Amino acid sequence: MGGDPSILIHNARVWPSADAPVIEDGSILVRDGRIETVGRFQARAGTRIDAGGALAMPGFVQAHVHLCQTLFRGAGEDMALLPWLRKVVWPMEAAHDRASLMASARLACAEMIRGGTTSFLSMETVRGTDATLEAVAECGLPGVVGHCLMDDTGGYPPLAVDIDDGLAECDVLADSLRGTPTLRLAVAPRFALSCSADSLREAADFARSRGHLLHTHASEQTSEIEWIRERTGMDNVRYLHECGLSGPDVCLAHCVQVDLRERALLAEAGTNVLHCPGANLKLGSGLAPVPEMLDAGIPVGLGADGAACNNRLDLFAEMRLAGLIQKVRLGPDALPARDIVRMATQGGAAAIGWGGETGVLEAGRRADLVLIDLDDLSILPGDDPASAVVYAAHPGAVVLTMAAGRVLYENGDFTTLDVGRVRRDARDQRRKLARRAGIGRG
Ligand SMILES: [Zn+2]
Repeated sequence: MGGDPSILIHNARVWPSADAPVIEDGSILVRDGRIETVGRFQARAGTRIDAGGALAMPGFVQAHVHLCQTLFRGAGEDMALLPWLRKVVWPMEAAHDRASLMASARLACAEMIRGGTTSFLSMETVRGTDATLEAVAECGLPGVVGHCLMDDTGGYPPLAVDIDDGLAECDVLADSLRGTPTLRLAVAPRFALSCSADSLREAADFARSRGHLLHTHASEQTSEIEWIRERTGMDNVRYLHECGLSGPDVCLAHCVQVDLRERALLAEAGTNVLHCPGANLKLGSGLAPVPEMLDAGIPVGLGADGAACNNRLDLFAEMRLAGLIQKVRLGPDALPARDIVRMATQGGAAAIGWGGETGVLEAGRRADLVLIDLDDLSILPGDDPASAVVYAAHPGAVVLTMAAGRVLYENGDFTTLDVGRVRRDARDQRRKLARRAGIGRG
């Protein structure tokens, strides 16, 4: 084997960012996991990849996902949020073991890699996050993995964990990630209804003292915000703010039900919002006021949420839905395709704390990119990249996914995953998990 580990992707239509023009017949030189050069140039490299005229763009940032829920796909259809959590999601999370967590994470990573996702922020469950981290590390997908905290589960003991134990576990997990720059830990109180006010404050203080991202769910449904108003006398976003959960190091998934005052508070604090249109539609939660939030200067990323409520982990589907739902709310020009691509790339990267690291193809950034076949029958003629990516493209059009300079997927083949095993384990572990949880036939 030669000694030159550099990779040159050439013969590509390079789209460096949502705001940049396409570079025809462009190239990208990658060395040591980072982008060295982007543009029209010739160079020697250890490995040459002919893109065949495909679109080369930043890999997608899946800004809200639950890897541990991928095995729950299809288990709780046509239910409202709070009963769905209580009767399906929580019992299945409580029934997870190491093997089922790893099978779930591998399946999630395989689906995300095939769909051009190159980094993610997830919320896992209250136990076993070490198994999830191990599976993600094997897959080679960069990510921020949230360890879930729940100390006040309203009479559902199996997932209740004392906050001090939960935070001690966060320290152990963060220690295990030293020397792995593509994986980070987030501190993730589940949502205001499953955490005491004291535990929210402790989690916020703890995360800040160690430089971890804070991640929670907020204002997904009216039933949830009514409960919180009853318990605290406050609107949810205000309550979270009072508990320390606001600011540039905080990621709030959903924010569907947020009024003008709450939006002003989010903007003022610089709190990040993670928009999940597919899950919001499927759980009947509503249509998030995304154009208004962007206009107010609130940073917004895009996510699928878990496979239990989407059911795909497909950023193409989320981009398309993000555009379509705003057309119904505010008219056809409410959220241009370019703005949606920005949310799915650099917007999401900034939201999850990787703003300078990924989301744009430029020298010095991590080499996280996707090649999309513009000759795909759903995409042709595909002249405008934003329109092609948001409204026409799909995971089947992804020809190559590279994360941190490593090709993870190329022409249907995975390089870090045995996809036959992923499939077998998904079926087998789902059956065992459903049996342990006492849910359906699995
Ligand atoms: Zn979620």
